[in-house]
Amino acid sequence: MSETNFVTRNPRYCLQCDDGTVLVHEKRDIPNEFRGVKYHVPAVSGWHCPKCGEYEFDPGEGKRHSEALQEAGQIAAQAREIHAIRKKLGLKQAEAGKLFGGGAAAFSEYEHGKTQPHKSMVLLFKLLDRHPEMLRELEGA
Ligand SMILES: [Zn+2]
Repeated sequence: MSETNFVTRNPRYCLQCDDGTVLVHEKRDIPNEFRGVKYHVPAVSGWHCPKCGEYEFDPGEGKRHSEALQEAGQIAAQAREIHAIRKKLGLKQAEAGKLFGGGAAAFSEYEHGKTQPHKSMVLLFKLLDRHPEMLRELEGA
């Protein structure tokens, strides 16, 4: 029995819509956002409601989803940390981008989790968090 037949014979209805909308079984990339960090889980299979967008994952797919969420959470945490340290150092985003490299927009992207800074930048920022007075030495370098 093909999947199409299976789905036709065993329709599932959207519990959100609750109006007899039939769910579609398919694979799709699931876009998501966590604390401003956009991410997506590729090719998740499950039941999708074409009307309200409700998505019910197949067994096992939830794990991939939670892993992606966890990763987004780590990116979000790092983005907040960089933002907090930059503020503590009294640098504007453009100034930080000039001093640490990456250009004027780099820190805006880091702090929104759009791109991730190189590990060496993160480590340097953590050092500066503990020893902010060292910033003067960097600025003079
Ligand atoms: Zn629905």
